[in-house]
Amino acid sequence: MLLSKRGFEVDVFEKAPVIGGRTAALERDGYRFDLGPTFLMMKYLLDELFHDAGCRTEDYLDCVRLDPMYRLQFGDRKLMVTGNREQMKSNIDSIFPGEGKGLDAFYEREAKRFKFLYPCLQKDYCGLEAFVSLTLLKAFPHLAAGRSLYDVLSEYFESEELRLAFTFQSKYLGMAPWECPGLFAMIPYTEHAHGIYHVQGGLSEIPRAFAKAAEQNGARIHTSTAVKQVLVQKGAAIGVQLENGETHLADEVIVNADFGYAVANLFPPEARKKWTPKKLESTKYSCSTFMIYLGLDRIYEEGEHHAIFFAENYKKNLEDISVHFRKSDDFSVYIRNASVTDPSLAPAGHSALYVLVPMPNNTSGIDWEDEKERFAEKVLDFMEARTPYKNVRQHIRTQVLITPWDWENKRDIYKGATFNMGHGLGQLLNFRPHNKFEDFERCYLVGGGTHPGSGLPTIFESARIAANLISKKHAVDFTPPRPFSEPSA
Ligand SMILES: Cc1cc2nc3c(=O)[nH]c(=O)nc-3n(C[C@H](O)[C@H](O)[C@H](O)COP(=O)(O)OP(=O)(O)OC[C@H]3O[C@@H](n4cnc5c(N)ncnc54)[C@H](O)[C@@H]3O)c2cc1C
Repeated sequence: MLLSKRGFEVDVFEKAPVIGGRTAALERDGYRFDLGPTFLMMKYLLDELFHDAGCRTEDYLDCVRLDPMYRLQFGDRKLMVTGNREQMKSNIDSIFPGEGKGLDAFYEREAKRFKFLYPCLQKDYCGLEAFVSLTLLKAFPHLAAGRSLYDVLSEYFESEELRLAFTFQSKYLGMAPWECPGLFAMIPYTEHAHGIYHVQGGLSEIPRAFAKAAEQNGARIHTSTAVKQVLVQKGAAIGVQLENGETHLADEVIVNADFGYAVANLFPPEARKKWTPKKLESTKYSCSTFMIYLGLDRIYEEGEHHAIFFAENYKKNLEDISVHFRKSDDFSVYIRNASVTDPSLAPAGHSALYVLVPMPNNTSGIDWEDEKERFAEKVLDFMEARTPYKNVRQHIRTQVLITPWDWENKRDIYKGATFNMGHGLGQLLNFRPHNKFEDFERCYLVGGGTHPGSGLPTIFESARIAANLISKKHAVDFTPPRPFSEPSA
C-alpha cells in the first residue's frame, strides 16, 4: 500500500485464496470469524499508515472503540476493565479495596516509558547508527533491564490477581509475565490509555482494506499464487519463482511469510548465512493456540465482547505451556463474543463465537490429530460450567477446530508458534531478524518473526520500516514515523 502510493510497481503473491494470513476471515455456513487477531490496539497507527497511502481509515474501515474493553474472571471474582480511568479505579477498589490508587501511578510512570521506548521500535537496526541515536539514549532509563513485566507491574498493585490483570498481555507475545521483559509494560499501557478497537465485519477487514488501497494505488495482488523460492544471484535477491512454474523478476523482494517457515523453505540453502536451520533450532519460540470457532443459533447477550477466564493456578498453566511443553487440565480460556457488538458476523439472531486456549508450540510432540476432539469437549465442558455460555452445545450450528499442528502444517507457521519467535531481550531489536535481510542483498523482511515483533501494530511497523528503507535506497520521498504524542481520545 505504501510502496505503490510512492510510485513503485508492486506485485503481491499470496499462497492462500484470500488476503490476510493470520488476520484473514474464516467463513463457514453464514458465520464469519476472525482467524487470529481480535484486539486492535494503537488504532492511531493504522490512521498514519492509511494517511501515508493517501487514504483515510474511515473510508475503508468502521472501527469501534470498546468500553468496557474486557472481562477478566479469576475463580468467582470478575473484573471489568475499562479505559475510563476513574471508572477503572472504582472497579478495582470494589474488588481489591484500596488498590485503585495504583492505577494513577501506573498511568504516570508507564506514559513516560511508552513515550521514550516506542520510538525505539520504529527504528530499523540495520546499521550501527541506530545504536548511537539520541532516541535510544533517552529510552535507556525506561528499559526496565533485568526486570520482568510481572516485576514492573508489582510496583503498582499488591494483589496477585490485579497484577495478572495488567500482565496477562504478555500472552499476546506468546510469553508468561515472569519471562516477558519489563519494557512490554507498554502493552497494558497502550490498552488502557489508547483503547482497544473492534472493526465491524471483523479485524480481517484490515488486510482487505490494505489490499483495496494498494490496488487503487496500482499494486497487483495475485491470490492462490504460492512462491516456491526467492531467487538469489551473486548474493542478492533478483525475484521469485512461483509454484506454478513462472518466474517473476524484481529489483527488491519483500518476504512476509512466517520467518521460520521462510528460512526453512523459501530461501536457497546456499544463500543462508546467519539464519541457518541450525540457528532456527536454537531460537526460542512463542506458545501456540488451540482454537474453536462456533456458529451459534442464539446470541449470548450476557457474554462480553472479550472475556478471559483464568486457570485456577495460572502460573502452573503458563509453566506447563512454555517450560514443560505439555497440556494443562487446568487451562485458561479467552472467549470473543463479537456478535454483541457486530450483527454482521452471523445470520440474524445468531452469533459467531471465537474460543482460544493457549497451548505449547509443537516442541510438545502432542499428537493433535488424535487429541483434538477430546480436548474440544473439555473446553466446551469448561464453558458450560464456568462461563456465561451455559448449554452452549445445544446451540452449535457449526464448529471449526484449529490445533497447533494445523497452524504449522496447514498455515505454514514454524513449530505452530502463532506469535512467532519469543520476545526475550536476546531476540529483540538488533537480535531479531532485521527488516533488511542480513543473509543477502535486495531482500526485506516483514511480519511478526522480524523486528519489532508479533502483533498487529508491530507488524505494521515492520512494513513501514521496510517500505521506508526501500524508498530511501531509491531516493523516493516518504514520511518517517511521526514523533510520538498522546493521541486524543
Ligand atoms: C490466534 C491468534 C490471535 C491473535 N490475536 C491478536 C490480537 O488480538 N491482536 C494483535 O495485534 N495480534 C494478534 N495476533 C498476532 C497477529 O495475528 C500476528 O502478529 C500477525 O497477524 C502476523 O502477521 P504476519 O504478516 O507476520 O504473518 P501472517 O499473517 O501469517 O502472513 C503471512 C502470509 O504469507 C503467506 N505465505 C506463506 N507462505 C507463502 C508462500 N510460499 N507464497 C506466498 N505466500 C505465502 C501466508 O498465506 C500469509 O498470508 C494473534 C495471532 C493469532 C494466531
